Amino acid sequence: KAACRRYPAQCIVDLKALRDNMARLVEICGGPDSGTAVMGVVKADAYGHGLIPSALAALAGGATWLGTAQAHEALALRAAGIGPDRCHILTWMYSGLEVPFDELIAADLDVSVGSLAGIARVAEAARKVGRPARVHVKCDTGFGRNGFTPAAFDEALRELREQEALGLIRIVGQWSHLAVADAPDVPEFVASTDRQIEVFDEFTDRMRAAGLEPQIRHIANTAATLDRPKAHYELTRPGIGLYGYEPDPAMGTPQRYHLKPAMTLQAQLGTVKDVEAGHAISYGRTYLVPQNTSTAIVPLGYADGIHRSASGFDMQGAKHVEKLGGPVRLMTRQGPKLERVSGRVCMDQFILDLHGSAADMGIQEGDTVVLFGPGRGEAVCEPTADDWARAAETISYEIFTCLRNRIPRLYL
Ligand code: PLP
Repeated sequence: KAACRRYPAQCIVDLKALRDNMARLVEICGGPDSGTAVMGVVKADAYGHGLIPSALAALAGGATWLGTAQAHEALALRAAGIGPDRCHILTWMYSGLEVPFDELIAADLDVSVGSLAGIARVAEAARKVGRPARVHVKCDTGFGRNGFTPAAFDEALRELREQEALGLIRIVGQWSHLAVADAPDVPEFVASTDRQIEVFDEFTDRMRAAGLEPQIRHIANTAATLDRPKAHYELTRPGIGLYGYEPDPAMGTPQRYHLKPAMTLQAQLGTVKDVEAGHAISYGRTYLVPQNTSTAIVPLGYADGIHRSASGFDMQGAKHVEKLGGPVRLMTRQGPKLERVSGRVCMDQFILDLHGSAADMGIQEGDTVVLFGPGRGEAVCEPTADDWARAAETISYEIFTCLRNRIPRLYL
């Protein structure tokens, strides 16, 4: 709260929305007794929403697994008191020597192996700790990132069998990741996802033929959790859906599955002033106000994680080129009003052309404005992170995870 008084912007996270979103995802997977469990993917500080509060909200909503990419976040979950009696936690990054597998095994965290070097390191750590590592075998079914390729799998199976026989690993799961599940309207991408699922099943057959039983198979991200029941297996791994968004902004966030965006980014206006027609705004003079107007400063910039690519302009050099900036919702005496970033986003601030007189509209310094939120409102809808993603030519994931910690997080 003290930090909030000193900073002119806040990130408000609605934990009830997170909990309800998870409950909805559990329901979409058939409910708690369906044989498909749901993992709350809380990597990257829970997509910028705050690791521990978001993880607890996901568990309250019915998640029985949590997942992180980086090991330190999985350890932080256990350190926060989320014990093995409460849920399983899988952490999947393997990046050379710095992953503390011994600490992970000692903390009852599940790890991923997708290379022979990875198996060797996990087995060595298990020997040191004196107990088998719980392992999920990562299969590269067509994403081309981590995991064993089909061609490398025989050797991997030999190695896995040997380490399991020595009691150094316990094969808990088999897993993979989908590349284009978020494009259900593109036939070649649908076919490619179908193929990834087939390859995944072939990997399972090969494991079983080698006498290894992966009890928990998982491949589904949010997109496949929502749209592909065939990909649910024993566990799904939604991330963005937990935070109330769909992977592809064109898929109709947030109404289609009644998910609710959990984060609101708001700020208090800085200087509000009147300027004359033709006045240039911000670096590069890329926006000239078309008429006499008022402008207002929003005290958030790229040092806060606001994308510079969400700048809005009507000029590039001497040429007329239009690009829409990120949207901001203001309250005026006459009701809500939407404006967009005018000119370039600066390091700590950006500027809005208010398209009228601030005095007439009752807009003044200190007013709270909303960059994005759940999308409330009828006549002038509140923008969502998808609107910012469109303006910045990116995806909502990047909008959230770029928000710096200097913006205080407040939890509802
Ligand atoms: N599983 C893995 C391995 C991931 O890397 C991610 C996120 O990128 C997810 C699941 C969750 O994906 P999404 O946020 O699209 O649901």
